[in-house]
Amino acid sequence: MGATILSKAAPEGIMSWIEAVCPSCEAVECRSVDFGLWVCDDTSASFYSFVCPRCGANLQKHATDRIVELLIAEGIRPAFWHLPAEMREEHTGPPLTVDDVLDAIILLDRPDWFTELTRATR
Ligand SMILES: [Zn+2]
Repeated sequence: MGATILSKAAPEGIMSWIEAVCPSCEAVECRSVDFGLWVCDDTSASFYSFVCPRCGANLQKHATDRIVELLIAEGIRPAFWHLPAEMREEHTGPPLTVDDVLDAIILLDRPDWFTELTRATR
């Protein structure tokens, strides 16, 4: 269980407070400046975080589009990011094994490791 955002509106120029739910402390009131918001181009990876003012737990939870809108409306400035392009690549071939990793470690001890590695991956 993460946190649930229940917004409390604040007049212009006054810091807003956001009621969130900590799994240990239940409902707590947090300053909006204590929230972080990371919006990803893949919306399923967007998340927000805050530190519980009671127990100090650092909580993170998926930020739905609605929560993103709500937190931005509360003045939280989002950081935008995207998943690494490698995550969208199609991978073929067998997965790496422990032996593959051990071979790579042994190879890295050789002075010609880079030449050998480029030769082996052609
Ligand atoms: Zn807590």
